[in-house]
Amino acid sequence: MYNYLKRAWAEIDLNDLEKNLNELLRVCGTSQPVAVVKANAYGHDDRSIAPFLERKGISFFAVSNIKEAITLRECGVKGEILILGYTPPDEAEELAKYDIIQAAVSLDHALRLDDEAKKAGVRVKLHMAVDTGMGRIGESGEKAVEALVKVSSLENIILDGAFTHFAVADTLSEDEINYTSAQRESFFKVISSFESKGKTLRHKHCLNSAGGIFHYDSRSTLVRNGIVLYGLKPDISLELPFRLHPVMSLKAVVSLVKEVPAGTYVSYGRTYRSEGTRKIATIPIGYADGYPRSLSGKGEVLIRGKRAPITGRICMDQLMCDVTDIEGVCVEDTATLIGTDGNETITADDIAVLSGTIGYEIVCGISKRVPRVIIENGETVSVREYY
Ligand SMILES: *Cc1c(COP(=O)(O)O)cnc(C)c1O
Repeated sequence: MYNYLKRAWAEIDLNDLEKNLNELLRVCGTSQPVAVVKANAYGHDDRSIAPFLERKGISFFAVSNIKEAITLRECGVKGEILILGYTPPDEAEELAKYDIIQAAVSLDHALRLDDEAKKAGVRVKLHMAVDTGMGRIGESGEKAVEALVKVSSLENIILDGAFTHFAVADTLSEDEINYTSAQRESFFKVISSFESKGKTLRHKHCLNSAGGIFHYDSRSTLVRNGIVLYGLKPDISLELPFRLHPVMSLKAVVSLVKEVPAGTYVSYGRTYRSEGTRKIATIPIGYADGYPRSLSGKGEVLIRGKRAPITGRICMDQLMCDVTDIEGVCVEDTATLIGTDGNETITADDIAVLSGTIGYEIVCGISKRVPRVIIENGETVSVREYY
């Protein structure tokens, strides 16, 4: 490890990413896999993840906005790129220039993109969103069919596809399975109704990670794989049919170890008071790095292969933990906040449960103050420092 990284850093293991990818490819059937790399590849560094996946055969990527899409083009990604979220219509020229497919969130959005594309003298590729029960973007039912018909005749739009998004693909109770089936059927009803008018769509897609694994349907030409690529569960209570390999580890060094007498308060608010003589270690990582403050007094850190409970409140840039029962802890030891040390592992999903959220929010929330160390075959291949 380079010396300048010796505060806090995240390790991104590309071999683990590849293992998850291979498992997903097995469940993708005949559909084309899309790698969802929005939000800096769920915090894993999109500029490292996307080119790697492209080398491994992925030729379709999804992001959430135009800045992310252009970032991929600028780091050499040649494959197709779909923006799943909103892009202001006045970016039509940029969309065409970088050959990016845009999701139309409504008929109005598509019409305004067509207008702007006309002004710029370009044609923009669209996938129309269809709302089948997520209540987020797109029109539903007959209105969705009408929107597709309308958009298919716009001169400056290339209608390349349509898609919907499942609300409960990751929940396998009978009720939720029925809800997902109903979403899927109403989506394909919209599609057949549109296609019965002599129209065709290159892509129609409805599957996210959980959809591809638990509700696979070969009529979906694409599977939009996000969270499982990164080795996390769509929902913590799900049993996946294969083993996941978490791609991100979060680490920091020990900056100080000290013995404190009974009755010593540690950190803001005096929420922790030592019962007896304790050995406390300070770790220079905090909520400004994206380690949730809600883990105050609840979380654990791995040091020398053992669990050290967090004592008191997590600060912006530091936290303290109790290492009394761990032999020989010293300054510059590595503390693992997410990842494996010896026989102990803490996953982002574990942390999510403790802090009342989901693994997605934990990894996306690791801030840009934390350098990403990219690892392949056990070697550091690059280090991404955001500033
Ligand atoms: C984020 C997103 C995905 C990926 O979802 P995962 O649960 O991470 O697999 C797929 N489709 C859409 C529309 C999304 O916004």
